[in-house]
Amino acid sequence: MGIATSGLATPLRGRRPRAAATRRWLAAAAAGATLLGLAATSAAGPTVAIDHDRYPMTAERIGDGLWAVTSPHSQEAMSAENGGWISNSAFLVTDDGVLVFDTGSSEAIGAALRRTIRQVTDKPIRWIVNSHPHGDHWMGNAALAGEDTAIIATPATRRTIREQQDEWLERFEEATGERPEVVLPERTIETRTRERLGGTPIEWIPLGQAHATDDLVAWLPEQEAVLAGDVVFEETAPSTFDADIQQWLDAHETLLALEPETVVAGHGGLGTSSDIEAQQAYFQTLWSVTKEGWQAGHSYQEITPEVRDALAERGLAERLERLEERLGRSVNHTYLQVEAALF
Ligand SMILES: [Zn+2]
Repeated sequence: MGIATSGLATPLRGRRPRAAATRRWLAAAAAGATLLGLAATSAAGPTVAIDHDRYPMTAERIGDGLWAVTSPHSQEAMSAENGGWISNSAFLVTDDGVLVFDTGSSEAIGAALRRTIRQVTDKPIRWIVNSHPHGDHWMGNAALAGEDTAIIATPATRRTIREQQDEWLERFEEATGERPEVVLPERTIETRTRERLGGTPIEWIPLGQAHATDDLVAWLPEQEAVLAGDVVFEETAPSTFDADIQQWLDAHETLLALEPETVVAGHGGLGTSSDIEAQQAYFQTLWSVTKEGWQAGHSYQEITPEVRDALAERGLAERLERLEERLGRSVNHTYLQVEAALF
């Protein structure tokens, strides 16, 4: 399922205002025209048009052979304006090839990521990791996987992607008007494992249900970097619709014990250990205030402002994007889990 690209371009960040670029893309799409930029094709794979301005990715070097590609929209919901590019990715260049951690929400985003990788290295993409089953982390697989690429996930993530793929494809199509092709993970990681990939040590850490049905993070000891997927939201209120709050708190402990220098968060910018600590304090507050409210017989609607006040008092609210949008739902999710734990 490879896509051959040619005519690599330099990143075009800031070349023209986003709104103008988006309008131009929407106009082109509406007219059924080919998107501006590369038309990348292969005999085996689909045709994907790449709009350079739409996904102006740059690779940021964060360690030996390690690069992060963060989205300026990674704190947003999917929309036509951001083209669905709402999550972060990373890639590791080893002696034998490239590992890509999370592939974005669509083939077009995956193709832009591939082009960004090609600005750094010509080595083949040998490994893809899908950190969890949410579509903004695997729907770009089709554009990055070749014949010799192993797509890695936990067994539960593989199963859940298969079960929920239509729902994610519909959500993406509704938001952006496109429908990505599905390429599923096939290599599974079941237990905490160390190995060397092309000479680079890597540790796989499956965390069970923390943010999602299952979460897999990668620890790179030489780079002192953790590729955290959505186990870490940097300066963004975390989404909890699939989460187990207590297991997520355990996951924070596991990550903090690694003492990472750099944390590639699934949403928000690049982080450090202090971002994990901040999110841990957020969930501890969410849990303890919800628990007190539940014990006092309050409804989750009554508890929400109590949590909001406690977060503000502890200095945990002011820098969090999307807090107002997500807090009520997160209190609701936590309320049900508190009730299950105490009843
Ligand atoms: Zn995500």
